[in-house]
Amino acid sequence: MSAFGTVFAPEMSLASYEQGQWSAAQIVKTDSISLHPGAHVLHYSSTCFEGLKAFKHEDGSINIFRMDQNIARLIQSSELLSLPPVNAEQLKQMIVDIVKRFAADVPLPPGSMYIRPTHIGTEASIGKAAAPSSASMLYILLSPVGDYFSGGSKPLRLLLADETRCASHMGMVKSGGNYASALQPILKARKSVQADQVLFCPAGDVQETGAANFILIDGNEIITKSLDSSFLHGITRNSILAIARDRGMTVSERALSVDELLQRSQKPGAEAALSGTAAVLTPVGTLIHDGKEYTVGNGEAGPTTNALRQALNDIQWGKTADKHGWLTKVC
Ligand SMILES: *Cc1c(COP(=O)(O)O)cnc(C)c1O
Repeated sequence: MSAFGTVFAPEMSLASYEQGQWSAAQIVKTDSISLHPGAHVLHYSSTCFEGLKAFKHEDGSINIFRMDQNIARLIQSSELLSLPPVNAEQLKQMIVDIVKRFAADVPLPPGSMYIRPTHIGTEASIGKAAAPSSASMLYILLSPVGDYFSGGSKPLRLLLADETRCASHMGMVKSGGNYASALQPILKARKSVQADQVLFCPAGDVQETGAANFILIDGNEIITKSLDSSFLHGITRNSILAIARDRGMTVSERALSVDELLQRSQKPGAEAALSGTAAVLTPVGTLIHDGKEYTVGNGEAGPTTNALRQALNDIQWGKTADKHGWLTKVC
């Protein structure tokens, strides 16, 4: 099985913005775009993206999960980066068209078709360090993906770090520069303490990892940081919280300090997990802080984490009623 995100459909949907308007969307070869070396995105990081999935159901239908939420987030990211305004209707049509075109290549569960809308500033101008790109390109890449957990879902080791993942006013923007700024801390954590990820906790406030949100489960309560502009508002996070509420759990969206996290995670039965589109809900087994290791609960994937992940997968895979109306059937 190829590594996640390395296999692409041979074609993508593409639209360009120039002189104040969007072109009609076209289907083009995936490797066909050309960029000027002075393109705004290559110098001043005018780039944002989304990640969502299409699922094949047993009846053969293809269904996209929470597409409207991802479209709204790409529109918001584009605004916050001063990229040209994305047209929600056009973007939706582009996603639906390209997924339909490659419907036969959508893997069966636990696989899916990962969809990567991308918006970049293309104006050739290295003089615009402090000005927006007047031109842009929006394209939808497709990447069939297999079971994220095919190697078994070994609980993760997280290093709690007292630093920020990215500039604090950019945290809710799904933009390349944020991943660049998180990379060195992550590489250092892998090397120094064999951590899988860094849990960024600036000034002791538990935020998120490099590309996933963090939740703590203590008995019937699920605790996660309330939304603010400092971190990415995950759609998986939102979905897991909705499912938890449906199941009668207490959902506490509030500040969580490192001290409280370390203390509560020691309780028998405590669970912690990372949420995101790629991995859905991944158990966390160990927290590392100030040179000490803390096992979360018994260090294994907990029953609530597994049940919440299963409940979300059941909706995505068409095995249970989609009562929140999260799926868009494209064919
Ligand atoms: C994409 C992303 C997430 C998860 O968002 P989902 O909508 O659940 O996929 C969380 N944190 C960061 C930094 C992300 O880039």
